[in-house]
Amino acid sequence: MYIDTHCHIDDKRYTDIDSVINEYLREGITKVINVGCNVKSSIDGKNLAEKFDSVYFAAGFHPSDINDFNDSSLNEIIKLLSHKKCVAVGEIGLDYHWEPYDKDLQQKGFIKQIEIAKEYKLPVSVHLRDATEDAVKLLKDNKDKLTYGGVLHCYSGSVETAKILLDLGFYIGFGGTLTFKNANKLLDVARYVPIDKCLTETDSPYLAPHPYRGETNTPKHIPLVLYKLAELKGVSMEEMAKAVYNNAHELFKKL
Ligand SMILES: [Zn+2]
Repeated sequence: MYIDTHCHIDDKRYTDIDSVINEYLREGITKVINVGCNVKSSIDGKNLAEKFDSVYFAAGFHPSDINDFNDSSLNEIIKLLSHKKCVAVGEIGLDYHWEPYDKDLQQKGFIKQIEIAKEYKLPVSVHLRDATEDAVKLLKDNKDKLTYGGVLHCYSGSVETAKILLDLGFYIGFGGTLTFKNANKLLDVARYVPIDKCLTETDSPYLAPHPYRGETNTPKHIPLVLYKLAELKGVSMEEMAKAVYNNAHELFKKL
């Protein structure tokens, strides 16, 4: 049994969602978490979760959508958190890649959503891009609010940063980037992270693994990520899959 802990199958490029779901079920992916970026995608995730057994969802504001973040939109997100298939607050975090960005608003939104996750007894799904220093500081400063843990999704940082995150109790999410030809640094991270802290994801529709790089990704590609991870950890594919499945249930208690 395989799991995709981070995808966006609410994306409009999936014009035939039934076949996307049937395809990943056929490949042995039994659960996927559709992660929200704003109110609309969080509600879309909820609707998918209500329609399909295998779909769970997370709700939150992505740092690149943080301009939509205010008291009333936050209330819309909060209403979703008690849903029985809402497994996390996310994706939340910092992204200083796409200009223009408002660092202060991103940090304010990130902290507020960490607080809400604690209040609703949920873990956080964290997105981080080009903002490692600020994110590490913010997470350390708010360590006491990370009671229900979290995952750093689609990890792309250094071994040193991974160590800090593991010390804060985080899981590390590995995706298609692990299979890319230029993944050298990430391979070291995957070798370093203990098996009981590894999660797999696709971040569909983005980041399709090799040899599908550049195509529209779907959760059916999880075995390619698992295969690579198993190879790096020196365990069988089945052993790796079992560990990841257990880890996901350890972190996301409502799965
Ligand atoms: Zn994502």
